[in-house]
Amino acid sequence: MFDACIVGSGPGGVSAALGLRGRRVCMLDAGLLPPPRPNLESNVFDLRQSTPDLTSDLLGDDLSGLAHIFRTPVSLKLNSPGTSFILELADRITPVVSDSFHAAISLAQGGLANGWGAGVYRFHQRDLGALPVTTAQLAPFYDAISAHMGVCGAEDDLLSDFGTEPQLQPPVRLSANMARLYARYQSRRAFFHRHHARIGRARLAVLTQPHNGRAPYAYRNLEFFQAHDPAIYNPAFTLRGLIRNREIAYEPNWIVTRYEDLEAGVRIHAVSLDQQRSQVFEARKLLLAAGAINSARIALASNYDFGTRLPICDNSLAVFPLLDLRAIGAPLGTHDAGVAQLNVVLDDGPRTFQGSIYGSTGALRSDLLPNFPLPLRSSLAFARACAPALSLLMLFYPETPRATNYLRLRPDGSGTLDAAYQWSPDAVLERRLCGLWRKLGVVCLPSLIQHPAPGGGIHYAGTLPMASSRHGAYQTHADGRLNRTRHVYLCDGSIFPELPAKNLTYTLMALALRTATRLNEGLA
Ligand SMILES: Cc1cc2nc3c(=O)[nH]c(=O)nc-3n(C[C@H](O)[C@H](O)[C@H](O)COP(=O)(O)OP(=O)(O)OC[C@H]3O[C@@H](n4cnc5c(N)ncnc54)[C@H](O)[C@@H]3O)c2cc1C
Repeated sequence: MFDACIVGSGPGGVSAALGLRGRRVCMLDAGLLPPPRPNLESNVFDLRQSTPDLTSDLLGDDLSGLAHIFRTPVSLKLNSPGTSFILELADRITPVVSDSFHAAISLAQGGLANGWGAGVYRFHQRDLGALPVTTAQLAPFYDAISAHMGVCGAEDDLLSDFGTEPQLQPPVRLSANMARLYARYQSRRAFFHRHHARIGRARLAVLTQPHNGRAPYAYRNLEFFQAHDPAIYNPAFTLRGLIRNREIAYEPNWIVTRYEDLEAGVRIHAVSLDQQRSQVFEARKLLLAAGAINSARIALASNYDFGTRLPICDNSLAVFPLLDLRAIGAPLGTHDAGVAQLNVVLDDGPRTFQGSIYGSTGALRSDLLPNFPLPLRSSLAFARACAPALSLLMLFYPETPRATNYLRLRPDGSGTLDAAYQWSPDAVLERRLCGLWRKLGVVCLPSLIQHPAPGGGIHYAGTLPMASSRHGAYQTHADGRLNRTRHVYLCDGSIFPELPAKNLTYTLMALALRTATRLNEGLA
């Protein structure tokens, strides 16, 4: 029997594994791996000059990378032949059926963080909401995760929003567009502050200096085509280290379906990815880090519960195109950062919104075409001329649990979840924001703002929320233990009672490390 069994190798799972070092730990994981992409070894724009045909690497032999022209993808970043493994098989093996919620579930080693933007921000006490943990209790765990991953950014106007990092690497380089935008903001700071808006350099789990044997960011614009850039933190890196040092027994190709919480420990039922074999694993403690949706599925299935509606939250998203007219037709900065370069925070009464601003060199120009209200040939010319002038602001909305937004397990034994989700954007706020951006010298038209379908924020949370008292069947105690179980702990986004606009993964990792460290002490 293992001391502990962790389900999942995403940010939550590997953070839990770090906290359980020294114990006999097994990690059960679906564990899909990225396909090799040997052609993609330098900057994508240089490669396009030197390699006769990159169609297979950028779009796929079946041109599946163009699928977004016909149906809205959950994220363009998960569409290419080198990144589609991140969502592979999930539709079939752990399905979510809904006409109002588009779930992105990963069965990959490293989870959704194979494609994440790596934005990492410390939560304030108010961001933690009803979570019965204080920021002071979390601080040492943030510090440990930060030292492990490496974080870059700057101590600027967003310092009080994002918190202090003990070792902050310099921020990623700004493109010409972004530098102009930022300079204009700095000359109009008082105006922006009066309007409760702040802009600063992006805070990212991306290296700009070597760290823990990993190379710094090389401005290759490959984020949309390849996972495992050594500069961008990926939980698979941590997992490999733990396996190499024999600190964990890693068991890939397993789908955990349910657990039995017994007096002396847990029995964990799993089926192989090809659905041909099943096996039972035993451990003293079970740490679920299968992602907020799949951990909820396992909890419901373990109780044979086909009636309960579990809450689900996501940071709904608005994408603002920002066009700098003076840069139209300028040469494209082919060695600019494909990761976020600036962050924006905006207070609107009691609500705070947060966004990341990206340049346009990460995605393919073909990715932009469906957004232009022009015939194809004109769209191509327009995209070529506008790409150097275009930045994209991804604005995240905060979310609280609502009766309309839920998951429920189907009673047919298939493990399918039904989901429903209602959300509508705040048009007044978005128009106000467009006005602010115009002060930065960019064109930002409310009619061009895109709203991905609910689920498109891919920051899932709140399915098994942590509470300080009066626990229901599917609530979690402050030590991470699922109520009405003796040995089952949650180590992913499921435990957040609500979502601030601030992206959750860094906090999810700090909480997972805290839960596992305390369990480790108790297992003595
Ligand atoms: C395009 C994109 C951009 C993002 N950008 C950011 C960002 O900038 N900042 C931020 O904070 N967050 C971001 N996120 C969200 C972030 O990736 C997730 O919050 C984070 O990965 C969740 O971590 P997790 O460990 O809880 O779950 P996941 O990453 O979903 O990992 C789940 C793990 O569990 C395994 N698994 C699942 N089900 C089972 C099962 N039944 N049995 C066995 N194994 C199972 C999977 O193989 C996987 O290893 C982004 C996500 C995407 C897709």
